[in-house]
Amino acid sequence: MCSQNRLLAINAIAERTHGGVQSARPASLASYGEDVFNAETMCKYLPRAMSTKLLATIQKGTPLDSSIADAVAHAMKEWAICRGATHFTHWFQPLTGGTAEKHDAFLELSPAGKALMGFSGKNLTIGEPDASSFPSGGLRSTFEARGYTAWDPTSPAFIKRHANGATLCIPTVFCSYTGEILDKKTPLLRSLQALKKSVARLMGCFKMPEEIITVTLGPEQEYFLIDKKFYLLRPDLVQTGRTLFGAPPPKHQQLEDHYFGAIKPRILAFMTEVENELWRLGIPAKTRHNEVAPAQFEIAPIFEDLNLAVDHNMMVMEVLRQVADRNGLVCLLHEKPFAGINGSGKHNNWSINYGDRNLLDPGNDPHENAIFLTILAAIIRAIDLHSDLLRSTTSGAGNDHRLGANEAPPTIISIFLGDQLTDVINQLENGAVTGSKHADAMLIGVDSLPPLARDVTDRNRTSPFAFTGNKFEFRGLGSSQSCASANMVLNTIVAESLDYICDKIEKLPEESFNAGLQEVLKDIIREHRRIIFNGDNYSSEWVAEAERRRLPNLKATMDALKPLLKPQNQKLLVKYGVFTKAELNSRYEVFMEEYHRKVRIEGGVALEIARSMIIPVVAEEFGKIILAQRTIQGSRQSYGAAGLRTIAEKLGRATDKLITSTAELEAALEGKHEGILQAMEELREIVDLTEHLVDDSAWPLPKYREMLFIY
Ligand code: ADP
Ligand code: MG
Repeated sequence: MCSQNRLLAINAIAERTHGGVQSARPASLASYGEDVFNAETMCKYLPRAMSTKLLATIQKGTPLDSSIADAVAHAMKEWAICRGATHFTHWFQPLTGGTAEKHDAFLELSPAGKALMGFSGKNLTIGEPDASSFPSGGLRSTFEARGYTAWDPTSPAFIKRHANGATLCIPTVFCSYTGEILDKKTPLLRSLQALKKSVARLMGCFKMPEEIITVTLGPEQEYFLIDKKFYLLRPDLVQTGRTLFGAPPPKHQQLEDHYFGAIKPRILAFMTEVENELWRLGIPAKTRHNEVAPAQFEIAPIFEDLNLAVDHNMMVMEVLRQVADRNGLVCLLHEKPFAGINGSGKHNNWSINYGDRNLLDPGNDPHENAIFLTILAAIIRAIDLHSDLLRSTTSGAGNDHRLGANEAPPTIISIFLGDQLTDVINQLENGAVTGSKHADAMLIGVDSLPPLARDVTDRNRTSPFAFTGNKFEFRGLGSSQSCASANMVLNTIVAESLDYICDKIEKLPEESFNAGLQEVLKDIIREHRRIIFNGDNYSSEWVAEAERRRLPNLKATMDALKPLLKPQNQKLLVKYGVFTKAELNSRYEVFMEEYHRKVRIEGGVALEIARSMIIPVVAEEFGKIILAQRTIQGSRQSYGAAGLRTIAEKLGRATDKLITSTAELEAALEGKHEGILQAMEELREIVDLTEHLVDDSAWPLPKYREMLFIY
């Protein structure tokens, strides 16, 4: 029987009636986007001339006309008040990795002291939160604490509801008094601008007319749900988001019976409520399913404009947490909440559109194919040259436990193209047919590509960067990470490679354009094909092979952050106006410090749990056995003495080891992170062992078999 606290939790869960919050409605088309100040609402609340100007800003990225700011603010306020809002906030994404908000009421007082609801153009477009406590990595000293937030009109304002009201949220960028950027959105927006410019230039080379260029993202989000009653009994989960102790139960994910399994009613009720909220916020939640690990799930939206999709993913994570809480659950977004079973990631599906055409969709006519292959070559070159920079965006204390652990892609970045596309690339490289697969030599713009089936047959799940028919899927991101940085890197490095190609093909005379292009692409493939790998990325052979190919393998955060300081990477990001050198250096400092702090916090929590929760229980158990041994010695009992001695020995050794391991961790906490991680691991090993030695009714921490299976 389990401990009193655990028993109470289990009984409460057993008695709960399913269904989540009773009033929850399913998501509906009628309420889709009702809490967003979208184009439709804009047109309803604004004079036509103004909504046209605003829409142009949003769609074409033209600068916002400041003369309309007051009118837009007024319309937004009227709409928000109608929808129950009393406050507004600039909503931004500081380097903490989360989102930030500081609310102000619309309330204003007239000179006569009369209360009014006001919201000016200035309120809308610029905010001045005290920024002294946000990480800046030395860019700003606390005495010049002022930070600025500025409206990003390309992501619509929305309303966030709570039990007693609502708040108008205005997506903004965040920078310092002196203009240095302090957030994740600004560099993303800058990278988007760079990529769009380079794509437009490339389309010009192909004599294509001007069109609106967009970059799209569909992030698939994994998460765990456990009952809140268990969560509250685990100081490690409460403080660090992951279990620092806990022996994996005999049955966890081996049978793979959870993946795509029937969704339990309580979870489905939760998902329904999440979708209802997301749809109201205009977030197109589309797919829901059970994931591989027990108690693990996934939500995926329909892809959208990249900047919006990044904001939406931040909101998805928040809604998941809040709705879980209302349902007596806790949503764990940590990359590795439970040792020994799969952790959670975020698949980043990315593509580029020209008008309504997806440029990563191999077309059928020769002209379209040439453009497709050129972009493909640019991506191959970009990833090969800067895979370390892309890797840096997945670094972090949480993701370190997941990457390379044969449940997620390794820390070596490579590209999966699939057999068909690899064959095409081979032909391109050789400038002629390589096998019998296709009848014609492949000459760009002359012969058409063999028809490529949209859904590539082999969906290699082990690759960190995979072509999946009409998009690239980057699978390195951790479940709690913002998509902003990874896409910022992706956009910028691809922009640079496109420009590299444009530099070469822009000068080509029309009659030799195709042949010239073919040469350029051939050279790129020759030089960068080492980055392509279609095999099993989890295998040890690949690690060895990648080393032969000299592909970077940055195994953990400390190394993975270094590419931010590499001159070649810095030069690129500065050239494209995404960062200044100082901003990059500061980011390195911020992420390093965050990493060290997290490790230190984990060490402190582990020490506290071991000392105040585990050791007393083990010592008591040991005492019980010693007492039993004494009793047996005084009796004439001939059986049991040997058995008790064995138990006593095991418990005694465990007690000694626990005491030395906690002392070692305490000492390690004075030193470097490597020592802390090592000491935590050793302590965990002995704690997890004692979990099976101690009377179940005395074990204070909810066990894996309970958290992962009872909900
Ligand atoms: P999977 O098998 O990996 O689940 P799906 O086809 O279901 O693949 O798509 C996963 C995600 O990719 C979804 O969020 C989807 O919207 C997104 N996606 C599909 N096409 C594109 C695209 N062209 N650009 C960006 N994301 C896309
Ligand atoms: Mg999926």
